[in-house]
Amino acid sequence: MASRAYNFNAGPAALPLEVLQQAQEQFVEFEGTGMSLMEMSHRGESYEGVHFETEKLLRELLAIPEGYKVLFLQGGASTQFAMVPMNLLAPGKKGVYVNTGNWATKAIKEAKMFGEVAIAASTGADDFMRVPSPGELVIPSDAAYVHLTSNETIGGTQWKDYPDLDSVPLIGDLSSDILSRSLNVSQFGMIYAGAQKNLGPSGVTIVIIREDLIGQPSMPVPTMLQYTTHVKSDSLYNTPPTFAIYMVNLMLKWIKNNGGAAAMQRVNQEKAELLYGAIDGSGGFYRGCAQLGSRSNMNVTFRLENEDLNKRFVKDSEAAGFVGLKGHRDVGGLRASIYNAVPVDNVQALVKFMYSFKQQNG
Ligand SMILES: *Cc1c(COP(=O)(O)O)cnc(C)c1O
Repeated sequence: MASRAYNFNAGPAALPLEVLQQAQEQFVEFEGTGMSLMEMSHRGESYEGVHFETEKLLRELLAIPEGYKVLFLQGGASTQFAMVPMNLLAPGKKGVYVNTGNWATKAIKEAKMFGEVAIAASTGADDFMRVPSPGELVIPSDAAYVHLTSNETIGGTQWKDYPDLDSVPLIGDLSSDILSRSLNVSQFGMIYAGAQKNLGPSGVTIVIIREDLIGQPSMPVPTMLQYTTHVKSDSLYNTPPTFAIYMVNLMLKWIKNNGGAAAMQRVNQEKAELLYGAIDGSGGFYRGCAQLGSRSNMNVTFRLENEDLNKRFVKDSEAAGFVGLKGHRDVGGLRASIYNAVPVDNVQALVKFMYSFKQQNG
């Protein structure tokens, strides 16, 4: 068997070995067709089987209610930052954003190109080391939607409960925590997520949008950037990222075989508790970055007493077979990303390493 690194990359991130091996088995020839999936028409029966099965699996695993469309788009979550305001903003209406850090800030920047923006709350004064409480949100009466970032990968914060907004559609960027826990889709008007953290490789973005939000944009929008285009054609208006969607298909089957969203949540909680336990139990040697009630179960951010020690930790951990523990360049420190496919064993190995590093350097 291939030797596998302890992969804590922030994204693209670890995939289950079984999924990789299954893709390998089918790589050269897909199901007796005499060719690989990447070589065949996206209009053919074989690919369409994968395409629509992937949608069906996603609907099942996320319990997506009637009245929502599921799309497979390209351009990453970053393209959704622009597509949301292009399609959903109208004159006299505001795009309302909760600013919780790097990703939210990028979404806000795009929205400002297309209309008026209001900030419902920002935790910038706390260096984005927490998410706001629902009571802090100020929603103007002319809000077209309220946008939040479910999990901020850089600060390492995550919403535990989403705000209830009555009639204003909530739009969630769930790129780094979709299907990592149970979800009530009906709390949202729209959800989007790049696949490359919890659902597969990069190259495909999942959009789940309530039907009443799909319509003709009020401004000129290129055909490819209109939700209506992709809704009308079942995400087959142009050539979809067939291989990425196929990999998501395998990943969704893996999630299903491992107990679905509730089981993912249980294991992800267990992994997060192991790491936060190691941090909090270190007598101050390791310090968690995010505030207690906002800690992410996906990206555990922490630091040591000084930058030299952080650097030594990265170097020694790499020598011990750990990958991806360096914090994001904007904030420094350390970060362990523990998405769905990161095994508990790897987290236990990291906890062990953290303990011995402390023994040697504490
Ligand atoms: C990773 C991430 C993004 C960026 O996604 P791309 O697919 O690279 O555009 C956006 N938002 C959040 C919350 C993320 O975690």
